[in-house]
Amino acid sequence: MIQPATYRAAVAVGSGKLEFAERPVPEPRYGQVRIRVEACGVCHSDSATIEPERAESASALVPGHEVVGRIEALGEGVEGWSLGQRVGVGFLAGEDRTCPSCRQGDIVNCEKPVITGMTVDGGYAEIMIAEARGLVRVPDDLEAAEAAPLLCAGLTTFNALRNAGARAGDIVAVHGLGGLGHLAVQFANSMGFYTVAIARGADKAPLARDLGAHRYIDAKAESVAEVLHNLGGAKVILATAPTGLGMSEMVPGLSPRGKLVVVAIASEPITVNAIDLVFGGRSVVGALTGTVADNEQTLAFAQQRNIRPLIETFPLEQAQSAYDRMMRGDVRFRAVLVMKPTH
Ligand SMILES: [Zn+2]
Ligand SMILES: [Zn+2]
Repeated sequence: MIQPATYRAAVAVGSGKLEFAERPVPEPRYGQVRIRVEACGVCHSDSATIEPERAESASALVPGHEVVGRIEALGEGVEGWSLGQRVGVGFLAGEDRTCPSCRQGDIVNCEKPVITGMTVDGGYAEIMIAEARGLVRVPDDLEAAEAAPLLCAGLTTFNALRNAGARAGDIVAVHGLGGLGHLAVQFANSMGFYTVAIARGADKAPLARDLGAHRYIDAKAESVAEVLHNLGGAKVILATAPTGLGMSEMVPGLSPRGKLVVVAIASEPITVNAIDLVFGGRSVVGALTGTVADNEQTLAFAQQRNIRPLIETFPLEQAQSAYDRMMRGDVRFRAVLVMKPTH
């Protein structure tokens, strides 16, 4: 079948607006592949591309960094990938290999990374160009719309939880039950932790239990720190809700040597009493995404444990309303754009 010479993309034109563009199908350059996109998750970080005002001369960028599709063209110098292969692209889509972090092997903290949908066009489109070194193998039996959110929201929470130092049986709390939190609770349960879910409102208790929480704390009705302290203290609290105040208030609920692991970016600062850090050796740390190998393990773990995101799907044409609803916090739990199959 002859592929059309153009493709449709939702592009960020500034101030929260997306417009549709019909663009010529590009050829992948050295080290790149062209992907026929099947699905792309809508992540809160997309706002960094969509919200700012843009100079009229600036070229409009395609947002989206939770991309699943199939390789339909290989650039020169691409090894280990084949036409038709199912692949994913997450937030970090290629390291520069030359900065001090890369030279130490810490590519997640690359100073000049390729970031999907931010430094290069992302997946709110029928087609996307990606660096082969940033590709993730996606098993054929994972549904595209369900695999997409695992590539950013899933990887972020899976990696943060498994690297935080908690062991099976330890108390691990997940703060927030949104796009990240609802995956984190499932991961924490499957990793063997006594899993505590924290959100606002009694109405979320049944959901928390369905996702695998052993205990639910309603932050509206109870003091989170006090409840955690009475349970014995959390070895890890994973902060997925963007509230500096909420994060600050939980620190006294950590056990000695406990860690508050921050994966959500709040506009206001986190304030901590030194006494909570010094006595008990508690810490507050951040965690950022992971490597492509980490991402493949995220998918494999999710598959083995039957962990899936709860999603609402939208056709590409409804990208604006999917984005707007995500920004209003009114999607349960992850919005995913699904492209029409072309053949
Ligand atoms: Zn993301
Ligand atoms: Zn680097």
